[in-house]
Amino acid sequence: MLNIVIFGAPGSGKGTQGERIAEKFGLNHISTGEVLRTEIKKGSELGKTAQRYIDQGQLIPDELMIDILAGVLDGFIDSKGVIFDGFPRTIAQAEELKKMLANRGQEVSIMIDLDVPEAELMARLIKRGKDSGRADDNEETIKKRLLVYNTQTAPLIDWYKNEGKYCHIQGHGPLEEITEKVHKEIFSVAGV
Ligand code: AMP
Repeated sequence: MLNIVIFGAPGSGKGTQGERIAEKFGLNHISTGEVLRTEIKKGSELGKTAQRYIDQGQLIPDELMIDILAGVLDGFIDSKGVIFDGFPRTIAQAEELKKMLANRGQEVSIMIDLDVPEAELMARLIKRGKDSGRADDNEETIKKRLLVYNTQTAPLIDWYKNEGKYCHIQGHGPLEEITEKVHKEIFSVAGV
């Protein structure tokens, strides 16, 4: 089983690389941001709650997020592995993911950190906001999300270093080169 955490700040390319990894290695892809945006579109209670946090650039509370993730994970049958995109975002989530996988006799294989300078992140997100119309890709909310990333999410870098799972990748430059570097690292843990 390959369980891959694709990690990085908003705009670092987690979604793009996550999709490519899922396709290349035949893995299930969970993007927690996508799960929440789908609930918002459906107008569900969960979507309404999520929207309040997303609009503020804040994280959804850990307990709620962990329940959602567990539900999605339970839906995967005969999975070759999972690519976790946008989860974990806090140390509490990382600890819970470790427990959830351990209960299934599994573990995180590698955590790939797509490292992109903040000015580049800002430029990418503003462009994405214009192209896709994602409501949280506006300058004010982006600034809040980057602050939330630096304070609540970036500590996971040291957490995964301690676990011996951390892999740093320079996340700016030609897209195909980044994809190639990511795939090479995954091949090295997949043993293929
Ligand atoms: P993303 O599409 O990954 O950028 O996520 C968009 C928004 O969804 C984030 O800014 C958070 O408000 C929320 N979100 C996504 N994943 C998580 C998570 N693991 N924990 C808490 N909030 C999350």
